[in-house]
Amino acid sequence: MTDRRKMLEGLRDRLAKATGPDRDIDKAIHGELLGKCLHPRTTWSGAQSDTGRTCDDCGADSWGNRGGDGQRLHDSVPAYTASIDAAVTLVPTDDHGVNWDVEGVHGGVCAYVWLEHPAAVHGFVRTPLSKSRAEAMRLLPLTICRSRIEYELAQLPEERT
Ligand SMILES: [Zn+2]
Repeated sequence: MTDRRKMLEGLRDRLAKATGPDRDIDKAIHGELLGKCLHPRTTWSGAQSDTGRTCDDCGADSWGNRGGDGQRLHDSVPAYTASIDAAVTLVPTDDHGVNWDVEGVHGGVCAYVWLEHPAAVHGFVRTPLSKSRAEAMRLLPLTICRSRIEYELAQLPEERT
């Protein structure tokens, strides 16, 4: 199994088991999935033209100059698993969107999430059966995150067995 598949399946399983927002999963999404800098080793540089901290491992700095994607070292990890706004930033863009629906089903309530992206061949992802709409809504950000993971897994080449 490739490292990327292992990472994605691990994240998917953690998201599926989570019963609410989880900062450790937020960090894993940020670092492992998106490749953002979470490295702990930094060096202070006090030069007048570049005052701040620089990551010793990847070169990201306080000002977002060297990270490549404008990430600044002091940016906090978005609350992907707690906030729908943060979770939808994980939806693949290029003009496709995401849909969700919260429905009463036999014995409870489920939230369903599906991506409109043509490569999202996995169909929908749904929350476990919840007792109330409020509880299902609380799991919606986690479920949007999971739909991104399923999308990523669908992009991986098939593995020979
Ligand atoms: Zn770094």
